[in-house]
Amino acid sequence: MTCPYLEYRDDDGELEFDHERPFCRAQESFVSPMRADICNDRYDFDHRDHCEVFRNAEDGEAATPLAEGQD
Ligand code: SF4
Repeated sequence: MTCPYLEYRDDDGELEFDHERPFCRAQESFVSPMRADICNDRYDFDHRDHCEVFRNAEDGEAATPLAEGQD
């Protein structure tokens, strides 16, 4: 199941992109295409089990930026 916080945007409010980019509403930032594979639960990843940002958002805690190299 795709993470409910994942969406695709073709602009960042100022610039328009030539293709849509994955955006995490839980942390209010774009994520890399590789990270979006996790958000889409590919390769046996599960956003509920493997994403701290998701868990914090579900718990009502402040958004936690992904650690370097995980975005
Ligand atoms: S980074 Fe986590 S909370 Fe954000 S869209 Fe991906 S799986 Fe969901």
